Amino acid sequence: MSKTLSAIRGMNDLLPEQTVVWRHFESVIRNLLDSHGYQEVRMPVVEKTELFKRSIGEVTDIVEKEMYTFEDRNGESLTLRPEGTAGCVRAALQHGLIHNQTQRLWYAGQMYRYERPQKGRYRQFHQVGVEAFGIADASLDAELILMTANLWKKLGLTPFVRLEINSLGDAEERKLYREKLIAYFEASLELLDEDSKRRLHSNPLRILDSKNPEMQVLIEAAPRLMDHLGEETKAHFEKVCKSLDAAGVEYQVNTRLVRGLDYYNRTVFEWVTDHLGAQGTVCGGGRYDGLVEQLGGKPTCGAGFAMGVERLVALLQDLELLTNLDDNPHAYLMRLGEQAEIHGLALANRLRDAVPGLRLLTDCQGGAFKKQFKRADKSGAQVALVVGEDEISSGQVQLKPLRTTQDQQALDETALIQQLKQLIA
Ligand code: ATP
Ligand code: MG
Repeated sequence: MSKTLSAIRGMNDLLPEQTVVWRHFESVIRNLLDSHGYQEVRMPVVEKTELFKRSIGEVTDIVEKEMYTFEDRNGESLTLRPEGTAGCVRAALQHGLIHNQTQRLWYAGQMYRYERPQKGRYRQFHQVGVEAFGIADASLDAELILMTANLWKKLGLTPFVRLEINSLGDAEERKLYREKLIAYFEASLELLDEDSKRRLHSNPLRILDSKNPEMQVLIEAAPRLMDHLGEETKAHFEKVCKSLDAAGVEYQVNTRLVRGLDYYNRTVFEWVTDHLGAQGTVCGGGRYDGLVEQLGGKPTCGAGFAMGVERLVALLQDLELLTNLDDNPHAYLMRLGEQAEIHGLALANRLRDAVPGLRLLTDCQGGAFKKQFKRADKSGAQVALVVGEDEISSGQVQLKPLRTTQDQQALDETALIQQLKQLIA
């Protein structure tokens, strides 16, 4: 026998036990996005490497060390998408979606980052992302945040996540602040770790994001961008805060929140949980008014967020919030004898047509009643439907409850359909 192969490290198979939770999550979020008038887009998983370098920024964890980049057979440098915003902007520009228009879009799918796999951190993972274009007002930032808050409510996660927000100001304000920050860190050069020294001149704001415990005192005392905002950006941030207050969504202003990507300005936010260990950020986003122009479009403001589906599903599972989800069949059809086997498949189809939402599994292995009954029980179905030669000629089906002590009944098709409708209601 030849050796079996296994999946690539950090890339997970999702088996039925997990997909039942995933599908629940996906349907809740799809309904939520629909209800806010956001429309779905689907982009390729592979893009030109340059797209990510230009949008995410050269001096970021993602571009420096996490991308799956390769040359295709023509020698062109391609990359498996590490996030969705860049591709979404690319697609919106390419198809003229944001030419003098506003758009509210969303997407879902696999992302790829070469990271050290651990709980909540994988090399292939999934995000649901939302991007809105052409709306400058702070109401949009607030809408995005409130939408995520609504999602936690629908999933029962509200008590387990908290919101942190910050303003990164506009490009000019950040430039001035950057100088101050560099001067501050330069005065304590010997306290900086290697990563931070490297970033001191290329991306000093990222130093604030450092998780290194030894740097925290230094970071704590650093000048705050929040204190360097102009009137307009300050007012923008205040409107976001007031909108959250009015909607009853709690938040903490975290002046050190900078997010890992270069393209953000003004509002940034993260939803964090303390129930997943170190990988606690389940959703992050913000405004990126410069990105569209940076990627060759006309100046168009934008804002969005992305959430990590693996982390949210893990949270739902760890907290046991979805105990009554199941995708077992409702009914299991047993067919006894050749005639019943031949007519049984057509019967099953008629029942599925007549009872929308019915999950009906047909036993296709055959054999004695006892064997089929065992399989019916194992399937998790609520009831077994039994057809034999007699039932075929009389037009009746035996309905046998598998989880209650109720008696078996012989029903004609119309009565059976009624019973099945009640069963799944
Ligand atoms: P982190 O600080 O955890 O590395 P990030 O800032 O790199 O997160 P984003 O680029 O903002 O993450 O992506 C949005 C969300 O996608 C994250 O909040 C997280 O929930 C999820 N995510 C990011 N990287 C991974 C990964 N390697 N595996 C699983 N989920 C991830
Ligand atoms: Mg990361």
